[in-house]
Amino acid sequence: MKTALLSVGTELLFGQITNTNTVFLSQQLNLLGFDVLYHYTVGDNAGRLAEVMERALQDCDLIITTGGLGPTEDDLTKETACQVLHDTLVMHEPSLEALHEIARKRGRAMTENNLKQAMMPTRAVVFDNDAGSAPGMALSEGEKTIICMPGPPREMKRMWERRVKPYLEARQNSVIYYKMLRFFGIGESSLETALLDLIDNQTDPTLATYAKEGECTVRVASKRTTLEEASAAVEEMITSVRERVGEYLYSENDESLAEVVGRKLIDRGITISSCESCTAGMFSAELAGVPGISAVFDRGIATYTWKAKMEELGVSLETLEKYSAESRQVCEEMVRGLFDKTGSRICVSVTGVAGPGGTADKPAGTIYIGCLFDGRLEIRELRTGRDNRNWNRHYAMLHMFDLVNQMLG
Ligand code: ATP
Repeated sequence: MKTALLSVGTELLFGQITNTNTVFLSQQLNLLGFDVLYHYTVGDNAGRLAEVMERALQDCDLIITTGGLGPTEDDLTKETACQVLHDTLVMHEPSLEALHEIARKRGRAMTENNLKQAMMPTRAVVFDNDAGSAPGMALSEGEKTIICMPGPPREMKRMWERRVKPYLEARQNSVIYYKMLRFFGIGESSLETALLDLIDNQTDPTLATYAKEGECTVRVASKRTTLEEASAAVEEMITSVRERVGEYLYSENDESLAEVVGRKLIDRGITISSCESCTAGMFSAELAGVPGISAVFDRGIATYTWKAKMEELGVSLETLEKYSAESRQVCEEMVRGLFDKTGSRICVSVTGVAGPGGTADKPAGTIYIGCLFDGRLEIRELRTGRDNRNWNRHYAMLHMFDLVNQMLG
């Protein structure tokens, strides 16, 4: 269904608040299979609000508004929707009772302008608000519907989940099924090239690629009359995707690399420790975010200086002087030293030049990652070619997880 989102509030136009409602609703509607064609933002002005609603209804069958449902004179969204769809406002008793209840609980008297929030168009489907005072509604005329929700994101999200989403789902004569595939080690353009024939020929299922800081995601979605049909179509498409780029695919359930690695370690009871130079704890912080990881994660040490590498991991001064801290040799001594200290079945180390700068033979982005798993050692060398310190650190952290994941199989 062709849909427009309409955010109401002068503060939005002044840039005083960020329009997070639109981001949330666009994502949600997209997942439900609605085509969001326009985002409109209007101040608290009845004339412009009516004008934008009328314009939006020329192209779209559904408008979803947020904001402007409060008790004050300048809260006009519901009144304007009512006027645009030719209805009249009457007192909605259940909403009035809910407002009385809120006033009683807060120990406040109901004011005259509070009553305005309980006035609803005669044809409206009313959505109660259990996180605030302003009820929402859906009002239709023929094929056209306007849904009004409150502005505060907490109230809006709650009303969406409890009332609006089920209302819209019940009006869909199709279901959407989708999976989010996550890839590492392949850039978005290479991924798109590898999937080009599938993307070009797509009608249903559809494939959409997204890139995110060193990782890529592909959404495979199908819209059919039954869930079984949609999921079968998605699975078939995933088989084709796997044939082309399966080696880079690490999750079919939108999990992060840390989650995938953490789950494998926990399921198999494999202990792990880490020592980090240039990332200084990013790997261990990310791993610690996995629920239940304490069963297998022994320790994460940030060994930044030569002194720390020598004291904590037994790296030799000679190796440091001969090869520098950012070297394959030091990376190996770090990971072996970590194993001697912890006995963890998997030990992982990282050292490198985060940047900016670096030297001619070791420019920013020269990074070594070591992984020792039951006596098997692998050292991965990265040359990111980037000067951005935080990007290099983030990318190194992802590679640490990727190397552990590859070695776990
Ligand atoms: P209330 O019942 O609280 O008066 P309302 O429906 O009238 O709600 P507004 O007065 O328009 O909503 O907005 C209330 C607050 O909600 C804003 O001050 C802002 O903090 C937040 N808000 C409104 N619209 C948005 C939006 N599009 N994105 C993020 N926050 C928003």
